[in-house]
Amino acid sequence: MLTIQTFTFNALQENTYVVYDELKNGFIVDPGCYDSEEQDALEQFIISSDIRLQAVINTHGHIDHVLGNYFVTSRWNIPLWGFKKDEDTLRSVQVYAPSYGFHGYQEKLFDSYLTLEQPFVVGSMSWDIVWVPGHAPGHIALINKTAQCCISGDVLFKESIGRPDLPGGHLPTLLNSIRTSLFTLPDSVTIYPGHGPTTTIGYEKKFNPFLQ
Ligand SMILES: [Zn+2]
Repeated sequence: MLTIQTFTFNALQENTYVVYDELKNGFIVDPGCYDSEEQDALEQFIISSDIRLQAVINTHGHIDHVLGNYFVTSRWNIPLWGFKKDEDTLRSVQVYAPSYGFHGYQEKLFDSYLTLEQPFVVGSMSWDIVWVPGHAPGHIALINKTAQCCISGDVLFKESIGRPDLPGGHLPTLLNSIRTSLFTLPDSVTIYPGHGPTTTIGYEKKFNPFLQ
């Protein structure tokens, strides 16, 4: 049994997920909290729900997904996990953050690297890591087969897909990632995307206009 709590943070309306098991062992995916109000909302939830945070993960290194990296790793003294192929994407945020109006960005780089061979384990949860390039070169998705859910970052959205036109992006690669790594999952799997509402694999196979 696991629970996924969604927050939508920063001007780019990014979904930050707090994921925890029945014993309240948890981790955060893509902390997009930027101002103190957003940081407080996240902190109050963690405290009031009594969650023992053990890690934070970035699905990829784009600014809207990493604005809160520094805050959460320092507030809870937890490691930041990411995929090595996206390290340069994360490094470049510091350079372009001011041009997006995020003058308060504090850089925090990966402490530990995710691998495709080994599941990411927190408490009783085991998450498979799949590499899904095309929106960002080192983009990964997390899949929990037991709970039938997938945290997909900016790869697959409800009736849409991630932008392929950012540095390191490539449309055919993105479509191939979705077809080979996500559409091979059961139709019942719930998708928790980086923006917008949750959806399912079955729904997107039927209705996603980019994948017909
Ligand atoms: Zn992105």
